[in-house]
Amino acid sequence: MNHAAASTSRSRLGLLAPFTVVISCGLLAYIAVVDPLGPGDQRCQRANVQPCVDALGADVKIHYHQDPAIVADLCGDLRSNACALRTFNFSSARCDVHILSDTAHHVLEHELNHCRGWDHAGDTTEAYEAPWHLNRDAWVVRGAYR
Ligand SMILES: [Zn+2]
Repeated sequence: MNHAAASTSRSRLGLLAPFTVVISCGLLAYIAVVDPLGPGDQRCQRANVQPCVDALGADVKIHYHQDPAIVADLCGDLRSNACALRTFNFSSARCDVHILSDTAHHVLEHELNHCRGWDHAGDTTEAYEAPWHLNRDAWVVRGAYR
């Protein structure tokens, strides 16, 4: 009786083993296709002036303002002439760009790249002009599992 039960268990494991291998290979293939270099290695060149790949798929709204004090208040920074406020989860993403009406067009492209999920490392002109990195949280929530 015990021997028969043990034999049945071995038999079930024998049937399951090929599926386990297939699932593992599928997972590895998924990782290789979706994340060939790892999210930390993804960069966007000239993001300060040109569009990057949209990794967030956010619903974007652009709000033009006349009063610098309103933009400074919304952006939380007295020096800001524009900012992108983004929120995202597994099912949706939203990005609100607040910008002064007379701001140069490339500034809007800069903010739209934040909406697309990209960030610069620091708040200097050099950081804006260096390659931008993909926001890790945005990639995990919106890029990898969408
Ligand atoms: Zn920025």
